[in-house]
Amino acid sequence: MKVQLYNTMTRKLEEFVPVSEDHVGMYTCGPTVYNYAHIGNLRTFIFEDTLKRMLKHAGYNVKHVMNITDVGHLTGDGDDGEDKMEKTARETGKSVWDIADFYTKAFFRDYDALNIIRPDVVCPATKHIDQMIALIKRLEEGGHTYIAGGNVYFSIDTYPEYGKLAKLKLEDLKSGARIDVDSNKKNPKDFVLWFTNSKFGKQDMMWDSPWGRGYPGWHIECSAMSMYYLGEQFDIHCGGIDAIPVHHTNEIAQAEAATGKQWVKYWLHGEFLLTDKGKMSKSSGEFLTLPVLEKHGYDPLDYRYFCLGAHYRTQLQFSFEGMDSARNSRLGLMQRISELGNRKAEVLGEKAKSYTDSFDEYACNDLSMSRALSALWGLVKDEDVPSDEKLAGLSYMDEVLGLKLLDAASSEKEEIPSEVMELVEKRVQAKKNKDWALADSLRAEVEGLGYTVKDTPQGPQILKK
Ligand code: AMP
Ligand code: ZN
Repeated sequence: MKVQLYNTMTRKLEEFVPVSEDHVGMYTCGPTVYNYAHIGNLRTFIFEDTLKRMLKHAGYNVKHVMNITDVGHLTGDGDDGEDKMEKTARETGKSVWDIADFYTKAFFRDYDALNIIRPDVVCPATKHIDQMIALIKRLEEGGHTYIAGGNVYFSIDTYPEYGKLAKLKLEDLKSGARIDVDSNKKNPKDFVLWFTNSKFGKQDMMWDSPWGRGYPGWHIECSAMSMYYLGEQFDIHCGGIDAIPVHHTNEIAQAEAATGKQWVKYWLHGEFLLTDKGKMSKSSGEFLTLPVLEKHGYDPLDYRYFCLGAHYRTQLQFSFEGMDSARNSRLGLMQRISELGNRKAEVLGEKAKSYTDSFDEYACNDLSMSRALSALWGLVKDEDVPSDEKLAGLSYMDEVLGLKLLDAASSEKEEIPSEVMELVEKRVQAKKNKDWALADSLRAEVEGLGYTVKDTPQGPQILKK
């Protein structure tokens, strides 16, 4: 299968040709664990999971590495602001280690609920300080660093290609630079590799280093850990688009200045999930989490379906109407699948194959997933395709979609009458409108028809009495 990916580095759609024939190295910037992940963050993780699934589906052997940022990420993406972890610790009276542990667990709960395949390596920054120190030493030996005010800085003037990902021009960087609070910097875009002289008061997370006791800057972790696990050149690096101008730009500078060669071949970036007020962000404090969606009666997979409906490189406006429509489509799909029995065909006939071929073509064309979903619906609705072939085709497509489509296909399962389904749907809506009296009377009606409805974090579960 031919795979095409849009490379942020070249701003072009390119045919994917891995660095090494037998495997694909993929690094994705992970969460900063000082708060819950919001559904905007999760959109980016769903996009990355879809990319990984598509590559596996296309026959590649993918090694996926993701970091956990548990130190060094300041409230500003540059070197301004306060360490996000320390800030939450101070505000809650808990230790930074407890905060990291708590939010890492919460993150993976959401990750699993969204059926995102766990990375092959999950690497917390605090467990890789040695690798970061080794990389900073290498940069120091290469003449790319200077020490000022006790901190070790990366000097961007020693790396002429600085800013190539974001298409930043060095002259503009100098003349049009914003006023930086850090007067130690020779160039305003220089950044800290290692802090020994914290401007943020007492810091709980500190380690010994050749430059004194301190802690790493945020960007060094991704360069150091990705090269440690994937080698000095690898295939794919992903993140949200907000990482392009500073974080990924600085990651590239560190890695390529150290090795003197190209680091990552393909850069892929996911666009934002928006609220009425713009980008959903943790710092604004106004954000939605997956558990909140679940409290509104949605299944996490409804959100996955919602995200798959938009291309990862376009902004996506969140709305509850959009979520309702995603849920209805997904439930409708699951209902149809539950009517197909549970026997999968060994081989696909010509008609079924035409749908799976279209699906592959769309999915492999820079993840055109909304089109891939229309190929799926075409297969499901085509009356000329036998049920067992439909199931085989769906199972094949679900390798990329990750919607657990085949969970609906079991002949053992008692079929729930549409009358009951409709009442349960109405009850979800009534609960959403906080019309508890109506919700109770709808429950009574469901019971009258011989079923009970149980509210679970995954949505209502319908059982025969
Ligand atoms: P963080 O936990 O803040 O480090 O962010 C985790 C990932 O979510 C990063 O790749 C961000 O670029 C991405 N991200 C942040 N905000 C949004 C948003 N509103 N929509 C989509 N992705 C986002
Ligand atoms: Zn990163």
